[in-house]
Amino acid sequence: MKKHFVLKGIPAAPGLAIGKAFVLGSEELEVEKRKISETLIPKEITRFEEALIKTREEILDIQKKITKEMGIRHAQIFNAHLLVLEDRTLIEGVITRLKKEKLCIEFIFLEVLKKYIKTFSHIDDPYLRERLSDIEDVGKRILRNLRGIRREVLSQLKEKLIIVAYDISPSDTASMHKEKVMGFITDIGGKTSHTAIMAKALEIPAVVGLEEALARVKTGDTLIVDGTKGEVLINPDRASLTKYRQKSAKIIRSEKVLFKLRDLPAATKDGREVQLAANIELPEELPSVIAHGARGIGLYRTEYFYMNRTDTPSEDEHFAAYKKVCQQVKPHSVVIRTLDLGGDKFLSQLDIPQEMNPYLGWRAIRFCLARPDIFKVQLRAILRASAYGNIKMMYPMISGIEELEQANQMLKEVKEELKKRKIAFDENIEVGAMIEIPSAALTCDILAKQANFFSIGTNDLIQYSIAVDRVNEKIAYLYEPAHPAVLRLIKNIIDAGHREQIWVGMCGEMASEPAFALLLLGLGLDEFSVSPAAVPAIKRVIRSVTMKQAESVALESLTLTTGKEVEEFSKTKLKELVLGNEEIR
Ligand code: PEP
Ligand code: MG
Repeated sequence: MKKHFVLKGIPAAPGLAIGKAFVLGSEELEVEKRKISETLIPKEITRFEEALIKTREEILDIQKKITKEMGIRHAQIFNAHLLVLEDRTLIEGVITRLKKEKLCIEFIFLEVLKKYIKTFSHIDDPYLRERLSDIEDVGKRILRNLRGIRREVLSQLKEKLIIVAYDISPSDTASMHKEKVMGFITDIGGKTSHTAIMAKALEIPAVVGLEEALARVKTGDTLIVDGTKGEVLINPDRASLTKYRQKSAKIIRSEKVLFKLRDLPAATKDGREVQLAANIELPEELPSVIAHGARGIGLYRTEYFYMNRTDTPSEDEHFAAYKKVCQQVKPHSVVIRTLDLGGDKFLSQLDIPQEMNPYLGWRAIRFCLARPDIFKVQLRAILRASAYGNIKMMYPMISGIEELEQANQMLKEVKEELKKRKIAFDENIEVGAMIEIPSAALTCDILAKQANFFSIGTNDLIQYSIAVDRVNEKIAYLYEPAHPAVLRLIKNIIDAGHREQIWVGMCGEMASEPAFALLLLGLGLDEFSVSPAAVPAIKRVIRSVTMKQAESVALESLTLTTGKEVEEFSKTKLKELVLGNEEIR
């Protein structure tokens, strides 16, 4: 009898996968220590050189495949792999030791590689530590080519499986066939790891950071991967299996029903239409945005552009990405958020010191205002791209009016510069502020005079108003979107925005929750920007009610005294007004 087990990890890509596990063995970094004669040394060097060339060819092939399937941006991560292959210290280190120690090349190479890995693993810098996996990945490939073994398992999977691994390197991901991989689970990695981003872009359910998956799962075990909750059930009992199969069938059924809403407007029964847009991190998510029927992009997070690379993106790179996105969502708009680095998003190429309280530190707009050299590159690119479609832009983490004014001043300088250079841009580009800090939420009346719109970032607004770290599992029970304090702040933001006649949207995760959609609609929210997969469900809520019904839900919610009460009440109303007998998922 197989043992049931439930593991909790970090939800990396939403969705449900039920199937058999395929454990991607951690390749043994062990080789035999073999003495060789002096005469064999040149032959060993030739073998080493051939392995390097072969590895280079393999990586170039992967780059080509990835460029075709996922775009140049993803393919660029392999530049770091190619650099490892050209590393003179590594190569010369191997050849010198080979000549001196007269041991087989596999053994020498592995010794040098291990030393390298050890040095890197002691480095404090998280970016450089991440490069460790590039070195390991390339190192294993070289070793495989030296031994003549090819690790083609991933590209040769015969049936649809769930991949279980300590970590999934970008090159492993590249050799997978999308139609053969139902889901990923890994022991390490975070929400912003490249594996997670790729899984999301490919719409493959994934849970990362499970810590014990490799120790607990064997190839052939039955797994349920809940990428939305971040849970993995190993060899579930019959009852759980039935429950999840039903859930999965229901998701597929309701997706089919919701799909029918794709081309219908997000309007209430009495005709109030709201803007229903999607959040994206990468241009690769656009097909999913369009497939789910979102009208434009309400939040384009641009931090990922700066990740997994050693330099900062050039103005032309920014420009090319923004132009592509705005042209594809035309005539709808795309709201580009300027660089929001900090908190859990570190970029070591920008040389930012470690801080005691990174969430309260030198981040987002604070960093950008202090580094006009970096900020203006992005502003110029956004403006240039605005000539090609409907682009709006917004600043993250505005805490008060001075920051908004300073940012607008920099934007003005860039506009003047472009005008002088006779470069086209949209002179009336709408510029908004994200409202995600309580001080901004409480001074919205002041901010509204200098902004064309507000977008409420509840992920941070909740974290800062309840003083609850958004990624700390231990206090997750305190993280309540419907806490009366949060509701009052949201109401204040919407009312202040409307008094100044600007539109108010929400791009935090709260907007993606069907149970809260009624309440937000009733509070007067003009735009919902949600994860692409959540678009149909939110549209359905909006289309099922009248404004009067939504307003009465909002009014009553504001009289309740705890977040739990509001949540319960919202769920009851959702059932009553929208879902009927359907279960809430
Ligand atoms: C937010 O804070 O709600 C938000 C949308 O931004 P991020 O999650 O990128 O901080
Ligand atoms: Mg935020």
